[in-house]
Amino acid sequence: MRAIIIGAGITGPVTAMALQKAGIDATVHEAYERTADGVGAYLTLAANGLAALRVLGIDQRELGGFDTPALELRGSSGRVLAHLAMSRDDDAGTVSQTVRRSDLYVRLRDEAVRRGIPVEYGKRLVDATTLPDGAVVASFADGTTAEGDLLIGADGLNSRVREILDPGCPPPRYTGLLNTGGYASGVSVDTPVGLFTMTFGKRAFFAYANRGPGDVWWFANVPRARAATDDELAAWTPDRWRAELTRLFADDDGPALDLIAATPDIVPPWNTMDLPTVPVWHRGPVGLIGDAAHAISPTSGQGASLAIEDGVLLARFLRDHGDPASAFAAFEASRRRRVEKLIAQAKRTSNQKIPNPLTRVVRDHLIMPLVGKAAARTTHDWVTDYRIDWDAPADRLPA
Ligand SMILES: Cc1cc2nc3c(=O)[nH]c(=O)nc-3n(C[C@H](O)[C@H](O)[C@H](O)COP(=O)(O)OP(=O)(O)OC[C@H]3O[C@@H](n4cnc5c(N)ncnc54)[C@H](O)[C@@H]3O)c2cc1C
Repeated sequence: MRAIIIGAGITGPVTAMALQKAGIDATVHEAYERTADGVGAYLTLAANGLAALRVLGIDQRELGGFDTPALELRGSSGRVLAHLAMSRDDDAGTVSQTVRRSDLYVRLRDEAVRRGIPVEYGKRLVDATTLPDGAVVASFADGTTAEGDLLIGADGLNSRVREILDPGCPPPRYTGLLNTGGYASGVSVDTPVGLFTMTFGKRAFFAYANRGPGDVWWFANVPRARAATDDELAAWTPDRWRAELTRLFADDDGPALDLIAATPDIVPPWNTMDLPTVPVWHRGPVGLIGDAAHAISPTSGQGASLAIEDGVLLARFLRDHGDPASAFAAFEASRRRRVEKLIAQAKRTSNQKIPNPLTRVVRDHLIMPLVGKAAARTTHDWVTDYRIDWDAPADRLPA
């Protein structure tokens, strides 16, 4: 089998490496000369995503990130509402890794290339056609084509493959928050290295992690009733945006104002979107994977990890099923429930980040303490303890 993979973000290179392990050749086709979308931001990889990378022989220490073993949730006065562990007591000592998105992209792509997987740039997919013999032809904006036995749409939130499969598919949903963040330098905070401290502020949500002396990574979620248009986003010049963030966090406890002031280049705001349900995941030899099938709000800390799980699992289904159509169907059957449940959960968490005087008391005094207590008691977490046994036959997958 020869696979055409569209997109060299996180899912594309991971899927290609997993397919190689399954004995299937793949070429990755990326629209940009280099992956450019959201390069300024960072993300956190959870234990389940790191474990899936380990199936491919990639260790958490090779990703260029830093350990973020726990997070603490606080109210706007600084009161600690909950403390949650993000490391797992497994044999591999898995600890959540926080890494610049661009670093992760480059490392995964470079590793795929090192393993002999072709990655082609400047290849923007415009169409895909299934031939009578079952083969697929991908057409690119530069006029070239590629032919394979299957086509995997790893082309992210605004997937063209999704549109081709279902021109009427619902568009991404705005989750009610703008996102932004940055890297503060030369400023110190009094929290332990690696602890993510997250504050439900009076007007917006602020989080930071101490990476080491004078190096603090932060992000903010700013409530906004409707998605900002491109013009509105462009109107936030760096100076205006810095002033707005300073205003938003002026009345909260914590180091937000110092961190904002100590950040030379604040990542410009962007709309946070998700895809609650994508009706069509596959047809014949064409299927979706990663954000293209199930984009989830960054609030979950799971988008990248789910994408990595997807790549490894789809490769296993293709190895065991042989024909692409039945492998895609089995993949959907094993994945849809897990990812849609998580997307719904992340949306509820995003809603908690939108300040509301009526629900704040319930959140701070009832929900968050319960979340903390439940997390401290739980020995198995259905999200982060998910593990893929590569050698097990594909019909014995975790639910
Ligand atoms: C700013 C930000 C912060 C985030 N924080 C977190 C976090 O903390 N934890 C977490 O787990 N997840 C986080 N996420 C989500 C995570 O980044 C995504 O879930 C993950 O990148 C999905 O990987 P993907 O490969 O499916 O899609 P993407 O990473 O979006 O990659 C898709 C690729 O396809 C390419 N492409 C698009 N269209 C075409 C086309 N027509 N032809 C060819 N190529 C195409 C794109 O250029 C891109 O390189 C965050 C996302 C953003 C934007």
